Parts: sequence; C-alpha cells; structure tokens
Amino acid sequence: MATFLENTKINVEQAALALALGADVRALLEKPKNVLAFELPLPLSSGETRIFSAWRVQHSDVLGPGKGGIRYHPASNLDEVSALASLMTWKTSLAGLPYGGAKGAITVDAKELAPKDLEAVSRSYVRRITEYIGPYRDVPAPDVGTNAQTMAWMADEYAKLTGAWEPAAFTGKPVEIGGSHGREEATGFGGAVLLREALAAIGKKRKLRIAIQGTGNVGGIIAEELAKAGHTIIGMGDSKGAILDPDGLDVQKILAAKEASGKPLAELPGGHAAISSAELLEADVDVLIPAALESVITAENAPHIKASVILEMANGPVTAEADALLKGRGIEIIPDILANSGGVVGSYWEWVQNLQRISWEKEEVLKRIEEVLVRAFRAVAAEKANGGSWREAAYRRAVGRVTRAMTLRGWI
Ligand code: NAD
Repeated sequence: MATFLENTKINVEQAALALALGADVRALLEKPKNVLAFELPLPLSSGETRIFSAWRVQHSDVLGPGKGGIRYHPASNLDEVSALASLMTWKTSLAGLPYGGAKGAITVDAKELAPKDLEAVSRSYVRRITEYIGPYRDVPAPDVGTNAQTMAWMADEYAKLTGAWEPAAFTGKPVEIGGSHGREEATGFGGAVLLREALAAIGKKRKLRIAIQGTGNVGGIIAEELAKAGHTIIGMGDSKGAILDPDGLDVQKILAAKEASGKPLAELPGGHAAISSAELLEADVDVLIPAALESVITAENAPHIKASVILEMANGPVTAEADALLKGRGIEIIPDILANSGGVVGSYWEWVQNLQRISWEKEEVLKRIEEVLVRAFRAVAAEKANGGSWREAAYRRAVGRVTRAMTLRGWI
C-alpha cells in the first residue's frame, strides 16, 4: 500500500502532468522548502524522563507565510508531517489565501500526559522553532491532539522568547487571548457548507443518511451541523469503535454524554449497536465522512463502501488506490483540500483580526468563512467542467496558482 506521502505526491504529479509542468517544477512542488527535525527530552512530573521526536515542515511559502497545525500523536513521523504540510500548501492555494503550507508534530499521546507535562512539552517545542515561525513566516494552529489551550501555552512561550505578545503568531487560540469567535467550529461548519454546495451541484437535494468517523473538533462539530441541517446521522465513530442506529442518533446528547463521562462511544448508555471502525466505514449510508485520521479508506475496503458521496474532513483519508477504485464506481469524493478548508479559512480571519487588533462577532466570522468556501467550491466546479474528479479539478487549480506565483516571483 502506498504511504500517505506517496498518495499526496500522486495527486500533485497528476495535476502537474495535466498542467504540462516540467520535471524541475514538479520536483520543486513535491519537496518541502524547510524541514526541522529534533528530539525533545522531557522530565515528567512523575520523575521519569521521556524523549519525544518532533518536526516542523514548511512545504511552501511562495504565496505567503507557512500555515498549518501541530499534531500530537504517538505514531506521527516525518513522512506524515511532510504530507500534511504539502496538503496545507494546496488547501491555502485553493481557498485563495495569502499563505503557504506547513505542519508540525510531536510523538506524544496527549491523553497520557498530566496537564503540567503537556504544557512543558508544548513550551519546549516552541523554544526549538521560535526563530523559524512568526506572523509573517509560519503560523501554527491546532490539529489532532492539540487545542486552544495548547495554542495559549505556545503563544505565551513565543511572547516570552521574543519579548512581545504577538497574537497573530498562532491561530486557534482561546477567544479571551485573541482567538476568533467561530474558529473552534470553522472546520465542521465549513464542511457542512461544502457538502450543501456539493449536493446541490451533483443534484442530490433530499435529506441524507450519514456516517461520521471521528468525534473530535472536526467530527463532533460537523455531526452537529448536519443534524441541524436536517440530515440523519446514523453512525458515529471514535478511536475505540463506533455506534450505529438506522433510525438516527441524537448527536447532541451523545456528544454531551461522551464529554461528561470521557467514555468511548460504544460504552455510552443509550443502547446503540456497537460496531467496529471498519464496519462504520462500510455502513449503508448516502454520505460517508471520515473525520479522524489518514489512509482509512483503502483498496481493501473501497469495494465495500456503500455511500455515494464521501466528504473528506480528515486529511488524506482515502489512499490513491482506493481513490481510483471509488472513482471507477462513480462515487463522488469531495477532497480534503476543499472539504476541510474551513479550518484554515477560519484561521486566516483570526490572523487578519489579530494583525489589526480588532474582533468580529461570530456571525460575521462565519459569514466571511462561508463566502470564501463557496467561492472556492464554485471555482473547483468550473474547473471540473474541464474533466476529471473533484480531487483532480481541485489539485489542478491549487497547483496552478502556486506555479504561477513561483513563475512571477522568478523561482522557476
Ligand atoms: P481531534 O484530536 O479533535 O479528534 C480526532 C478524532 O479521531 C477523535 O474522535 C478520535 O477518537 C478519533 N480517532 C483517533 N484515532 C482513530 C482511529 N484509529 N480510528 C477511528 N477514529 C480515531 O482531531 P481533529 O482536530 O478533529 O482532526 C481530525 C482530522 O481532521 C485530522 O485528519 C485533521 O488533520 C483534520 N483537520 C483538522 C482541522 C482542525 O481545525 N482541527 C482542520 C482541517 C483538518
């Protein structure tokens, strides 16, 4: 099976071929501009010392400062971070933002560490990357395993090191210290906007049955948004498994119970049928929404997927082999670089407010996010009229904009 990084390269390569770009340009598009790799020794409050591996990869900055989250996951590795950084370049390009792409990670299990230790590792990470980041260089944000609190510690450490409080150096911060209203829900909200546009474009207007893998920031919020829009959420999953109810799940009640008890979905009261993550992906639904981790839809399970639409809220959830199989079966896939771009658009508006030292109401922020996403969707739909899948059309646009910028700036 091709790796996540190889899958990402295949998409870029296909776009480069369609745009008739030379081999030198293609090589430049595939490789990150800067890679920072280091080990973080951390004396834990238990007395034990642990060593974590950490990275910050800046894939491209031709359209503006690097932009991308920081992931805390024990299985993170340089290839994964490089793939995610590359996806950020295409995502920001597609949304028309003045940003490049970057991503960071630490091989830490956030659930395993005491809050004090989590704070220490977050501050220690910032000490190692300070000179390479900043509002006009590279602006980190949360991703899997990190949240607004993580950004607060990081922004504070950055202020201590630089001698000045600069809220625009990180996005996804708590609202009290310069975070934006609406950023927390931006990715899930944006996914619901894009699904609405996609369903209209492919002529599916009725209320649909949906399964969602992931109940974190992205999966939890899109579940709420789609239930609010009148769809029926029949399956939800987390890292320990999934639950299914063909009559529909009470999303708000389930998320509240999960939050209050800290228990996996399958152990919550309510008597919902517990199923495996694998079964959730193959559930009998109209729309499948992977919103957890990459490479979960593969050549093995692609033939058994029953959904006719896949909305990629996670980054890289469908492998290149699965993508080809699903395309052959006529399944419409709204690709990650479009589907989950509400998060980075929300981050962009946070950065804009921070640079101007202003603050907008939530409705204003969500309205601005929606405008950018609808524009991006329509541009991809127009490109799709030239042929290929949603993914191919999205990559052609994204790669084309980055390539034009490199040409204009005299890099190629
Ligand atoms: P999160 O840490 O808040 O939640 C992750 C969810 O995935 C949890 O519900 C967890 O239980 C589940 N999960 C973890 N491992 C799993 C496994 N092996 N099988 C099934 N479920 C598993 O993370 P998030 O911020 O919601 O991010 C989810 C995805 O969305 C990631 O791919 C991330 O890169 C992408 N994304 C996030 C944002 C953002 O703004 N947070 C923006 C764009 C894309």
